[in-house]
Amino acid sequence: QAKAFQRGELVTYADHLDEIVSARLKLLNKLKNAIHNNELCLYYQPKVSLVNGRTDGLEALMRWPTDDGFIPPQDFISVAESSGLIFELERFLIRQTCRDLKEIEKICPDTVIAINVSVPVVESEDFFEYVKDTLKEYNVRPEQLMIELTESIMIRNHKLINKRLNQYRNFGIQFSIDDFGTGYNSLTYLHNLPIAQIKIDKSFIDNMTQSNNGTFLSSVIISIANHFNFESVAEGVETAEQVAALKHIGCNYAQGYYFCKPCSLEDICAWMHQANHP
Ligand code: C2E
Ligand code: MG
Ligand code: MG
Ligand code: MG
Repeated sequence: QAKAFQRGELVTYADHLDEIVSARLKLLNKLKNAIHNNELCLYYQPKVSLVNGRTDGLEALMRWPTDDGFIPPQDFISVAESSGLIFELERFLIRQTCRDLKEIEKICPDTVIAINVSVPVVESEDFFEYVKDTLKEYNVRPEQLMIELTESIMIRNHKLINKRLNQYRNFGIQFSIDDFGTGYNSLTYLHNLPIAQIKIDKSFIDNMTQSNNGTFLSSVIISIANHFNFESVAEGVETAEQVAALKHIGCNYAQGYYFCKPCSLEDICAWMHQANHP
């Protein structure tokens, strides 16, 4: 049997899979160590109001610095998600967010931090308890935390996710739908779930200047947001033209390199000071 495969394409394919699997296993072990050795940190990016130019919200983005530079979150998060390690990673996330918030509050007392949490983690009752305990431990008000979820909440067990999100909401934590418009577009779930904000995916913003489609689709998403009383946030805003167009179509907030790249706690504190105490 093995001989038959030896010269065929199956061998290359199987070898390739082997390589992928062992590379991911290696990364998984490295990540486990990194979490235990406290090597991960959070970078922050402002959500800027397009109405008054102020920043009262930040998004926390996980960073893993290594000797070979930063490993992109998309790479290590998918590896963590494929094992139980994602729970540990998100527990670190919530704890570090609380710690950092105490520093940020010295500059801007009512800052809200949005964190990206993997959907299966949000579904977990244990994680909800962990969030409650950690906020209490650090004396952080639930209103200061927002959770960004992807549209994959749609394909989950609707009853469970609905129950859990309502538990968080009743406790005081708000939800935002990330990368809106790219996922499993069913609009029916929107009014059933306790959502406070939707984020227009960068792909729409990228197309705002090149064709009219990006602008049109963004304004459709903003109408949906307005209808349901959600805030609208544009992600990946890089140019003044995009800012002007977003203001024109009534978008509430924007995030992107145009305003500020994700940066360290120290740098974001300096930025917040500049931005909000001119
Ligand atoms: P996301 O939540 O949609 O975050 C936006 C991504 O766009 C970030 O990439 C950010 O650095 C990048 N970005 C922001 N503004 C601009 C811009 O103007 N131009 C361009 N080209 N990019 C911009 P990042 O930090 O690499 O994160 C990628 C994704 O990884 C995030 O997408 C989020 O889904 C996930 N992620 C990050 N941190 C965490 C975490 O702590 N937990 C979980 N579960 N996921 C996380
Ligand atoms: Mg996000
Ligand atoms: Mg996003
Ligand atoms: Mg994204």
